[in-house]
Amino acid sequence: MNRNPRYDILFEPVKIGPVTAPNRFYQVPHASGMTEANPRVRSAFRETKAEGGWGVVSTGALSIHPSSDDSPLPYARLWDKNDIRSHALCCDAIHSHGALAAAELWHGGASVMNRTSRIPPYSPSGISWAATHVGFMGNLRPRIMDKKDIRDVIAWQVAAAKRAKNAGFDIVYIYAGMGYLGYEFLLEEYNHRSDEYGGSVKNRVRFVREMIESTKDAVGNNCGVALRISLEELRSKSSDSHSSEAHEVVELLSDLPDLWDVKMDSSPTDCGASRFRPECAHEPIIDFVKKVTEKPVVGVGRFTSPDTMVSQIKRGVLDLIGGARPSIADPFLPNKINEGREGDIRECIGCNICISSWHDGVPVRCTQNATAGEEWRKGWHPERFETPGSDDSILIVGGGPAGLEAGLTAARRGYQVTIADKNTQMGGRLIYETQLPGLTEWGRITDYRLNALKTMSNVNLYLDSNLEVNDILGLEHSRIGIATGAHWTKALYSSLEIAAAELNRPDVYTPDDLALGMIPEGPSLVYDFDNYYLGGVIAESLALQDINVSYATPAGHASAWTIMTNELPFVHQSLEKSGVEVYTQMLLNDFDGKKVTLSNIFTNKPKSLAIKSVIIVGLRLPNDQLYNQLMSRSSEFAQAGIKSVECIGDALAPGALVHAVYSGHEFARQLDRPPDELYLRDIPIAESPPNKVI
Ligand code: ADP
Ligand code: SF4
Repeated sequence: MNRNPRYDILFEPVKIGPVTAPNRFYQVPHASGMTEANPRVRSAFRETKAEGGWGVVSTGALSIHPSSDDSPLPYARLWDKNDIRSHALCCDAIHSHGALAAAELWHGGASVMNRTSRIPPYSPSGISWAATHVGFMGNLRPRIMDKKDIRDVIAWQVAAAKRAKNAGFDIVYIYAGMGYLGYEFLLEEYNHRSDEYGGSVKNRVRFVREMIESTKDAVGNNCGVALRISLEELRSKSSDSHSSEAHEVVELLSDLPDLWDVKMDSSPTDCGASRFRPECAHEPIIDFVKKVTEKPVVGVGRFTSPDTMVSQIKRGVLDLIGGARPSIADPFLPNKINEGREGDIRECIGCNICISSWHDGVPVRCTQNATAGEEWRKGWHPERFETPGSDDSILIVGGGPAGLEAGLTAARRGYQVTIADKNTQMGGRLIYETQLPGLTEWGRITDYRLNALKTMSNVNLYLDSNLEVNDILGLEHSRIGIATGAHWTKALYSSLEIAAAELNRPDVYTPDDLALGMIPEGPSLVYDFDNYYLGGVIAESLALQDINVSYATPAGHASAWTIMTNELPFVHQSLEKSGVEVYTQMLLNDFDGKKVTLSNIFTNKPKSLAIKSVIIVGLRLPNDQLYNQLMSRSSEFAQAGIKSVECIGDALAPGALVHAVYSGHEFARQLDRPPDELYLRDIPIAESPPNKVI
């Protein structure tokens, strides 16, 4: 198919200082959790995006010096010759597809704890950053930089920029965003200095200006020099001479950088989850930048619609369409638009599981794209599939996220695939969950897969088909995937921090009951020890139905695990807005239909609430009966032509959607492959002997 001429503008080249981006698709710097310990994993991950048409592919933050040490988080470094080699591998791979490679040089200032290097963190005025955020919490306060420290950091930036150029990068960054050192100089809250680096906006900009000037002197003839800056807080500050301090900062630096990469200030707003932030959420903050500078501007907004992208350019908001999450969910997004296949884009759902991987300290994982991070390790390409090793036909029982992904991947490999679901709709748990507040976009998981499956001639989809063992034995399929999901139980939570006896009463519900349309009588209590999104979302949903609802959890926060996806602050805000009373650190001890008795998990202090129904969002167990029944008749498999039966997704191990999709994908990739092949294990590139850190 040909490209829709409406999208031609997206494929125009853009000059960035001495280099030219081949199109307007710019994979902005984003964390990958891939460090110098896994250079091949990293290189293949970034290369796939270049292959998929992104004109610029950036690294995540690259520390310029051991005084910017984010351990134990999985950060990357550009400190020495071995690091140059490691990144050269990535640059070469990106260049092999005609894209530019960008290095996000980074000094974390007071936001890092330097736990490995043991260097007291650097800061303009000794003010710690986000000291209450679990990821950044520490009890070492930063040192106040003197003039020599400032000169040192600039010298380290210059040295790192030269190393970046030697590694093959085309664009190098100065980072003044997200609480890092440059940002701390810009913000008066962090910068209390009385010298020429503090006080007026002009003085506060000086450090960033010197970083840009020195970097340009060092590599500006060969590399584009980009400034990445957060403007949210600065825009909220009034200025005597400008509309805001953000306007003043941008005007003071206007044409100094070759590229402006503009964004919000903190992860929850910068990478807002779709539950709380729509596409284009950055625009009201960054919309003025292009009016102030002649230099190109890149920005993000979880863009997946080419029409929105075109509108950003035509309305003069951006010159380059930045993508982090959309490029993870679909590395081939640009090529699909170029080929007139925009309907095939696997759109990011905004769940922020990719961000949780960073907090977990592992390479990036994505709900929509099971191949992310597995390009080298498992040899999985997002768009290319190994041909079948046999003419086996595949039966998938269950059309939830795991079953649909298994079926689609097997069909793309070329197998004959049947997916049967007992429901009248495909989608499994998503049928209910996408009706809950803020979760509509998660329907993209089902839509993307069903849309693709429906066009394939080697696929049969059956609804209303509750398969039993005899059906499966009689259907003449040789490989069976059991993707029958999981169920929520009424188990409580014990003081030993494990699930305890069930609270079995008719006025006690699980999410499965609500999915079937049952409506609990208010006042209700949602008791949540699953700790991810569902308990909080159900509480919100009941409140929207005018049911008086409270929420209790043994954890310290509502939906406590959402700290990993940057949603936690917004979960609390939205429960508060919905009028849901939140009780944390609570065990549920008793419920008699009129009142519930809670007690503090640490002190045992009791608390009674007048409650008529309880919804327990706690322990899930697999729906593995069908699998077990089938396996108990394995002696009949040969006669039925069955070669293998496998449990996948929640039916194997109940988890988040990312686990179900991954499990389904793996099932299909493993068909006719040796069962003992797990993955390749990466090792650091270390051609030089260990260096002294300087
Ligand atoms: P997962 O997240 O692992 O995909 P889900 O719970 O979302 O799990 O989906 C499981 C799907 O399996 C549901 O759509 C359910 O209707 C279907 N299912 C469960 N048991 C059977 C069965 N015996 N025959 C057909 N479909 C089934
Ligand atoms: Fe988007 Fe979720 Fe994938 Fe991240 S994990 S890229 S938010 S779909």
